[in-house]
Amino acid sequence: MLDKLVIANRGEIALRILRACKELGIKTVAIHSTADRDLKHVLLADETVCIGSAKSTESYLNVPRIISAAEITGAVAIHPGYGFLSENADFAEQVERSGFIFVGPKAETIRMMGDKVSAITAMKKAGVPCVPGSDGPLDNDEARNKSFAKRIGFPVIIKASGGGGGRGMRVVRTEAELAEAIAMTRAEAKSFFNNDVVYMEKFLENPRHIEVQIMADGQGNAIHLGERDCSMQRRHQKVVEEAPAPGITEEMRKYIGERCTRACIEIGYRGAGTFEFLYENGEFYFIEMNTRIQVEHPVTEMVTGVDLIKEQLRVAAGQPLSFSQSDIQIRGHAIECRINAEDPVRFLPCPGKITRFHAPGGMGIRWESHIYSGYTVPPHYDSMIGKLISYGENRDVAISRMRNALGESIIDGIKTNIPLQQEIMADENFQHGGANIHYLEKKLGLQ
Ligand code: ADP
Repeated sequence: MLDKLVIANRGEIALRILRACKELGIKTVAIHSTADRDLKHVLLADETVCIGSAKSTESYLNVPRIISAAEITGAVAIHPGYGFLSENADFAEQVERSGFIFVGPKAETIRMMGDKVSAITAMKKAGVPCVPGSDGPLDNDEARNKSFAKRIGFPVIIKASGGGGGRGMRVVRTEAELAEAIAMTRAEAKSFFNNDVVYMEKFLENPRHIEVQIMADGQGNAIHLGERDCSMQRRHQKVVEEAPAPGITEEMRKYIGERCTRACIEIGYRGAGTFEFLYENGEFYFIEMNTRIQVEHPVTEMVTGVDLIKEQLRVAAGQPLSFSQSDIQIRGHAIECRINAEDPVRFLPCPGKITRFHAPGGMGIRWESHIYSGYTVPPHYDSMIGKLISYGENRDVAISRMRNALGESIIDGIKTNIPLQQEIMADENFQHGGANIHYLEKKLGLQ
């Protein structure tokens, strides 16, 4: 097993990684910014290194400082968590070049999947169903672009190949808008992602977001752990996630899961990963792959019993997968509500001091969070302060436990989105299951 690991992240995921390391007997190094001295995992780690100021570019995104922290503490591996440098191929490369293990896929895999055009090309080749599209970058040849759009059929969506976080996308409904939309998305892509490559896809009007969790060891073994439904979104950001996805049969799960695992073998994938699909009229359409652990991984853990972070660490240590496909059974239902420090009406971040905190509990409740009474949520980072996960033998039980748990959570001193999550859990259409990606925004009057 790995001897000592640097946790190159903060907040709940850093604590989640620390707990898994403790279980496996791996020593931990918490690197943190000056704003994060009081983070829970920093208080619990074997060693800590303050690597810079609150600004992410000075700390959590600063590659030389992270690698130096690994060097001075004698760590052997670096876990990037999610966000920050987790899908940065140059970082993964630097880590490995400096003689450390990067907990994740090879840099070249991250690079290929981080570029959506090359990811789609690779997935098509591997037999993964994709959205009908331009199958490559768009140039400025208007006639060519129009002919793509006509073949695909309006509406289409112009997307940045290097895009992420729901930015750099534009829906086009008529031929007259096409050229300008391409130019605008290209300009945005250049300024946000420093990559002006854009491509075209069919815009699906009312899809659900369904994604498949996979785990591979890079030694020829890959398995899938079923799917999650992440259709409850606001501004393309997930708000509620669940596993399994309502209405997905065992047969469909097997169909799409096998295509994903086959693709993993084909590209020599290593570690945890997620294939994201849009799902409409019974068909799956690949949109992108995330080459890291995701925020919503706990719902998969709850229904499969697999600890995905421990498995990531085992694979990083060179071990083969500890289970095979036939060991994976989906049992019961799990739901995750992201808890954000934000104004639930205006959706603005609401950092500050938590004066009183009481964690929810009871059967089937899991609370993944770094917050505690007296902790101050800094203004510099993402507003997510925790994840509330409920599990039950069926979806109704999971919803009812979630409603109880939301109701008994006390987070005083700051505003949170708990009222919004309560509203979603009480919503008849949510309770029915299978709402599409626009549902939440329509409900909130944002569309
Ligand atoms: P990002 O990397 O920014 O998250 P994705 O490609 O994963 O970008 O897309 C994010 C979200 O944008 C999807 O969950 C969906 O809501 C919407 N979207 C993306 N592509 C399409 C499409 N072809 N049709 C309809 N909606 C889309």
